Amino acid sequence: MGCINHPNAPATATCKNCNAELCGTCTRYLDSGEYCEKCSSVAEANAYMKSRDRNQEARQVEMIQASTARITKEEDRKKSQSKDGIYVKGGVGMAIMMIFVSMGMYAFPDLMKSDAQLVQERSIISMEACREVFQAIGIMLSEGQTPDSTMSCPGTNIPNIIRREGNTITVSHPNPRQFGLVELYVTSDSHRVVMVGQGQG
Ligand SMILES: [Zn+2]
Ligand SMILES: [Zn+2]
Repeated sequence: MGCINHPNAPATATCKNCNAELCGTCTRYLDSGEYCEKCSSVAEANAYMKSRDRNQEARQVEMIQASTARITKEEDRKKSQSKDGIYVKGGVGMAIMMIFVSMGMYAFPDLMKSDAQLVQERSIISMEACREVFQAIGIMLSEGQTPDSTMSCPGTNIPNIIRREGNTITVSHPNPRQFGLVELYVTSDSHRVVMVGQGQG
């Protein structure tokens, strides 16, 4: 069997996701395996989201460890200072309270963040989710399908703007400014998602 894109070229790999036979030129090598062009962009986006989640968890564990270490140090200091034991008791009570605060931080990490930080983080998450939706639209376009008008981004109920110029179909986000972008679109010529920020393009 030959490559799906180049029937005369011998297939040297198989896409891990869609099992397409691929020649060397058409194979994308990711940490998770070999993919075709289309599946590699989806796999890359998924890997990015996963590593983001992992980093966030690691940061929270670090914060808890740091605050626990601080409490233990503080407690030792108070113990060595006090002679009547009252400070020790207060120290332990304080330490227990701090541990609860830390646990709360772990269970409800959002509570410990400032509003501005939250707004910024949420907009990064929804921009990433939105980029994935556009990536899916791009794949449909590259397969010659017309994207479904219901494929809009999470949290947006305004439909995407679909333009046709000759054989080229362009699907644009209706309100890229919510992400601080000038444009967010994908065309049938290239299924890559284009994000134009302020000061660019
Ligand atoms: Zn594939
Ligand atoms: Zn090929």
